[in-house]
Amino acid sequence: MYEQKLMLLYNECLQELKSIGIDMQNTEIVGNIDIKISTRASKRYGCCKQENPDRNYKVVKRVGRKRVINYERFLTHHIEVSSWVMQLNDEIIKNTIMHELIHCIPYCNNHGLEFKKYATYINQKLGYEVRTKGNREADCKASNIEYKEDINYKYKIVCENCGQIIYRKRFNQNLIKRYRCGRCKGRLKLVECKY
Ligand SMILES: [Zn+2]
Ligand SMILES: [Zn+2]
Repeated sequence: MYEQKLMLLYNECLQELKSIGIDMQNTEIVGNIDIKISTRASKRYGCCKQENPDRNYKVVKRVGRKRVINYERFLTHHIEVSSWVMQLNDEIIKNTIMHELIHCIPYCNNHGLEFKKYATYINQKLGYEVRTKGNREADCKASNIEYKEDINYKYKIVCENCGQIIYRKRFNQNLIKRYRCGRCKGRLKLVECKY
């Protein structure tokens, strides 16, 4: 039922971008984009899986002794919006779509300067709040839906001294026997495990 809503909002985003001179349907520049809802449990708002790198945009960087190859342009993009995001307000869903759409533009496959330039431009011109990182708690609150700290964890560990809560997907006894709280060096205690 959310698919229709996603397509509607996605098309609105495309039209709005066009109105400020960013034509995401110009396949010559941005390539092909598809979008769907991801049902994988993830804290991420969305992601943009890149495919078909353009060899003319190959960048080789040296990191220490290693050569790291990056591409600044891709011809196929698969955008995924997390299903929990679809329950939020339309503006927040559209911020997410806009964020992932920027990743489809050449030189924007990370949250670097080019990405930020586009985000700022879109925010100013269209009144969006595209950010590099979302705030799940604030967005859930704004949308009147229950906020769960972590939708993915199995183990909840608490520091007996300062109360800091740590979530883990994996657990072994060493975690509470040998390790101490990173904040205060207090003892850790397992308080919950979900299966
Ligand atoms: Zn991103
Ligand atoms: Zn502590």
